[in-house]
Amino acid sequence: MKFIRFKVNGKEKIGTLKHDHIVTELSSTMIDALNAYTTGRFEKTSSTDTSTDMFEKNRTYNLENVKILPPVFPSKIVCVGLNYRDHAKELKMELPDEPVIFLKPSTAVIGHLENILYPPSSNQVDYEAELAVVISREAEKVNKKDAKDFIGGYTILNDVTARDLQRKDVQWTRAKGFDTFAPIGPFIETDLDPNNQNISLRLNGEVKQSSNTANMIFGAEELVEFISSIMTLKEGDVIATGTPPGVGSMKMGDVVEVQVEGIGVLKNFVK
Ligand code: MG
Repeated sequence: MKFIRFKVNGKEKIGTLKHDHIVTELSSTMIDALNAYTTGRFEKTSSTDTSTDMFEKNRTYNLENVKILPPVFPSKIVCVGLNYRDHAKELKMELPDEPVIFLKPSTAVIGHLENILYPPSSNQVDYEAELAVVISREAEKVNKKDAKDFIGGYTILNDVTARDLQRKDVQWTRAKGFDTFAPIGPFIETDLDPNNQNISLRLNGEVKQSSNTANMIFGAEELVEFISSIMTLKEGDVIATGTPPGVGSMKMGDVVEVQVEGIGVLKNFVK
């Protein structure tokens, strides 16, 4: 099932997306909807028991007529550096023995079709196509075999990076943390094998990155285990799982699209 946060007539709402264009409004928060769906409560309340219809309002919209919002408000975005075997090969780097992680601030989040703003202090802003894991239950020291219970679904993230500042600074906080440097969306897909999906990126229509999440060194469940052994993951937090080969720069006026099979296309403009 695809879930969407959207705005219509000035009001922010949650919904499901069916047949790629029919948005059905839900009277729920995103996290409650994800947890209800992943535990089987969603279908029960939405279709068979209309008297306790917690979720579906039966009010529908065409996707074209709503503004898509970022699907969640993470308290933090935990990103994984070098996590694709083909990317490590491209960079002639050894495979890491454990994930290298860093944070992007929640203030960097923007949604589908919003503008990535080029900071005046950088001359090289890069794209990085990434599959993103959405946490729907507070996760502290979770074993990877239980990780699925804490994952609400999957979305797409563009780990926008000021590469020149990343090279200059020892810490990556500035290079990764500018406002608008974390486009997320457009939807959350609950039913997805995170470890076998095609992932690609197009810049002005030209394919720049193309791989499969099967090339990830550390899979989604392993990352939940590793990260939750360090810091508690809160509901709505996002794990960006790293980028495949083909990373490159964007310039003002560019259009960047990240596609993950089974989820959709996250499109943004560089201004
Ligand atoms: Mg990255």
